[in-house]
This record gives sequence, C-alpha cells and structure tokens, in this order.
Amino acid sequence: MVQIELALQVESLLKNKNFSCFVACCKRLIKSGLEIIFLFLFIGLIILFTFIGGGGRNYRSLKEFRSLKRNTSHPQISDSILNTEVEFYKKLGEEEKIRFRNETQWFLENIRITPIGFELTELDRLLVAASGIIPIFNFPEWHFYDLDEVMLFKDSINVDFETNAHDSNILGMVGSGKMERKMALSRKALYDGFNNKTDKFNTAIHEFIHMVDIADGTIDGLPKVLMDKQYALPWLKLIREKISHIKTGNSDIDSYGATNLSEFFAVAGEYFFERPDLLKMKHPELFEQMNNFFHGKNTS
Ligand SMILES: [Zn+2]
Repeated sequence: MVQIELALQVESLLKNKNFSCFVACCKRLIKSGLEIIFLFLFIGLIILFTFIGGGGRNYRSLKEFRSLKRNTSHPQISDSILNTEVEFYKKLGEEEKIRFRNETQWFLENIRITPIGFELTELDRLLVAASGIIPIFNFPEWHFYDLDEVMLFKDSINVDFETNAHDSNILGMVGSGKMERKMALSRKALYDGFNNKTDKFNTAIHEFIHMVDIADGTIDGLPKVLMDKQYALPWLKLIREKISHIKTGNSDIDSYGATNLSEFFAVAGEYFFERPDLLKMKHPELFEQMNNFFHGKNTS
C-alpha cells in the first residue's frame, strides 16, 4: 500500500513537472523495499547530474539553467539592426553575416545579460553580443567559456557597482574574486562605442579583449596564441616601445594604454577594431601584429 501511494506520488510529481516519460520506468522500479532504495538513489543521481552537469568550468547553478532556458527563446537575430548599428557587421559578406548571426545566437543562449535597474531591449542584447563576437570572429571554434554573465548598468559604476557615487567612473570591469566569470559594463559606454564611428574607443570591445587575454589564466597582455617565444618577444618589445611613446606624450594611442601591458593590448585592440585604417597609417607595425593576431593575416 505504502509502495502504491509512493508510486502515485512520484507519478503525480513527475506529471506536474512534465516528465511523464519517466513515469512508466519509476512504476516498474517500485516492487520491493530494496527497489524503493534504488528509486531514491536513481532520483538523487538525476538531480545531481542535472544541476552539476560535469562540474568544474561547466558548472551551472539552477538559476543559470533557468536563465539559459529562457534565452533559448530569443527571437531570430535581426540582420537589419546589426546592419544599422554595427559597422563591423555591415562590412561583412553575406556568408560571414550568417556566421556572425549564428555566433550572436550562441552568445545570447549561453551568456546571461543582466540589466541593473532597467528593462533590457533587443538592441542592448545585440550590442553586448556583437562586442563579444567582433574580437573573436576569426578564431575558429572559440567562445567565451570563461564568462557566465554580463551585468549591464545604466551608467559608469564604482567597485561596489554604485552608479551615483563620487568615484563612479568605471565604464567596464572584468577580473577575479567577485568578478570571476562576470563582466560589468556601462550601457551608456556600450552605446557610445557603437554610435561614434570615428573615435578609437569601444569600452565593450575593450572588456571582451581582456576576456581573450584572460583565457590562458592571466590578464597580462600576452594571450596564449602569442605566448610562443617566437611571437612573444617582438610583441613585448613593440608594446614597451609604444607605451614609452604614450608616456612621453608622443602618441595618439589613449594614455590609458600605458597603465600596463594588458591595458595596452585592450586599448590597441579598440583602436584596431574602431579605426583600422588610421592604426595602419600611424602604427603600421602594431597594425600588422594586431591584424595577424585577430584576423590571422599577414599584410606584408
Ligand atoms: Zn581594461
């Protein structure tokens, strides 16, 4: 009797959860006390594998699974919005545009975008995703596996994520500790990056370049692909030379690039994606290194 009641409860529970395909299987299991123990073990294992999903880097919490499920209903990626708002996309051929939209879809299905204090729009989603896809567009099979969430704030923030404090001057942030697997981004800076097509700044692209840099475990301006000694030494020599030019006031590269090697890499990357022709004219060697890295091309 107890066994039948338990079976009915399990069946009712499973029906309510739309897992009716499991019902028959559970009914067959409930025949003896020993089999009840197996049933609980079986259910426990299902719960464990559902929510842990392999552990380590692939770990997803229940909350994140819900978010991912919600994101899969994202409407088809809009070609017209990307054409109007994203210069990089506009210049692509038809096949590349399809690939860009597929990459955008992957991004939106796998990385949560959390608006803080406002309603997220379609354009917000597309601009965040495009900022991520642009730097990695020519990296085959490369995705932001180290990133779970982009927190989008209305404006600049401080280290405590406050937007109206006297020190709220951060436009974007990635890193470790509380920023592990997360990115914070100012929505205003996101839009400024795409609206102004003649400057050398794009905060969102800058932050995603940091994520490319961090993929080998450290943010040091030396992404894995450049760590081979053959490439690393000329790259470091060039960076140091460019940083010294910034420090002496003899450079048009944003002075924030002189902060350290990783900031130089991100700032030069912004310049490369925003004003490639200007970078090529003013800094041909740097352009060549960036082009080689981000596009796998040698222009000489
Ligand atoms: Zn930075």
